[in-house]
Amino acid sequence: TSLLDRIERLDGNINSFITVTREQALAAADAADAARAKGDDRPLAGLPLAIKDIFCTQGVRTSCGSKMLDNFQAPYNATVIEKLQAAGMIGLGKTNMDEFAMGSSNESSFYGPVRNPWDETAVPGGSSGGSAAAVAAGFAPAALGTDTGGSIRQPAAFCGITGLKPTYGRVSRYGMIAFASSLDQGGPMARSAEDCAHLLGAMAGHDLRDSTSVARVVPDYLAELDTPLAGLKIGLPKEYFGDGLDSEVESAIREAIKVYESLGAKVCEVSLPHTHLAVPAYYVIAPAEASSNLSRYDGVRFGHRCDNPVDLEDLYKRTRAEGFGDEVKRRILIGTHTLSEGFFDAYYRKAQQVRRLIRQDFLDAFDEVDVLMGPAAPTPAFDLGAKKDPVSMYLQDIYTIAINLAGIPGISVPAGFSGKRPIGLQILGQHFAEGQLLNVAHQFQ
Ligand code: GLN
Repeated sequence: TSLLDRIERLDGNINSFITVTREQALAAADAADAARAKGDDRPLAGLPLAIKDIFCTQGVRTSCGSKMLDNFQAPYNATVIEKLQAAGMIGLGKTNMDEFAMGSSNESSFYGPVRNPWDETAVPGGSSGGSAAAVAAGFAPAALGTDTGGSIRQPAAFCGITGLKPTYGRVSRYGMIAFASSLDQGGPMARSAEDCAHLLGAMAGHDLRDSTSVARVVPDYLAELDTPLAGLKIGLPKEYFGDGLDSEVESAIREAIKVYESLGAKVCEVSLPHTHLAVPAYYVIAPAEASSNLSRYDGVRFGHRCDNPVDLEDLYKRTRAEGFGDEVKRRILIGTHTLSEGFFDAYYRKAQQVRRLIRQDFLDAFDEVDVLMGPAAPTPAFDLGAKKDPVSMYLQDIYTIAINLAGIPGISVPAGFSGKRPIGLQILGQHFAEGQLLNVAHQFQ
């Protein structure tokens, strides 16, 4: 009850929750208390969880930040929700997000922007801005996010918490509303790497209902946390320290790297030569996949439907015109254009070729070093309303997006402040190196 009361008292300003499931949470808490009295000592039992409103939760509104799904109650639970409930966690509610996870500031939500708890004139980052703000504001000890191009790591950085994007395929996407299916991945957001390790251990694993989830044993992430870092090879991609990087962010990252050197790590410079192609390739591939995924919102099966359609075409047109916001419409237009006959080879196929080169850059770098480090975002949290032009918003993703294109894991860890606004250190590892990333993050904390 104390967290639910805190949300009620303070979330009016922050706007991190779209839906608070008070009654269900109280009932689950009573059940957890009773189980604890009988000796239930599982680590996650009874712990509250804030859930990004992109995960289907049975019988509870699942809006994806959109008017299109404002009236949608999911008929089933996402796999990760089932798993975390089975581990004993208690959902507090559904958190605010950019509409259909498209954005880097949480300003494209149908439910209004979220404010950064550290400085309410700043954005919390996006698209998992509600989850990051809920943890930072002390509304929940842990939250679920999703990351298609940075949406866990960048809001974690802006809100001074820890957020992990797992390897593509590590966590089931079943019941996670699709944005760009080849890039989307759910992951934990919490106050520490240790807490993220608990969550990831419970979330990860093969799922017959998601054919892209990988059948691979889930390691004991907690067992690895205390491994000493002596001899760890850290690469600093020189492209991540170039023009456009805020000087306070750069000095915070360089300070963090000195801490790693003092722990016995060896640091060297590496190059990811195709970095400059990541934003353009992503903003072809992600909208293409989105335009296909979002074609299901047609007013027929579920979600918003316009009033009094005169025929099927009118139903489609007005439903989609009314239900989607500007950023979602922009992406659908870009996606249908790049997939259309005559443009497919020039845009989509070319972007897939670039994606391959970007992935190869990382594989080559990991021949030389164990992990890569750099900033999670080029600046600290920016002011609400500051980025009106979509391209300047897309450039926020410059250090996060290539990671999704390559499918590798990445974690953002708090590494200081610029004034009141937090800064995040990003650590990247090879495919399925989540245990190592959590270990490296934990040693810093
Ligand atoms: N900011 C990126 C975008 O707008 C990434 C979003 C995400 O990871 N969901 O597409």
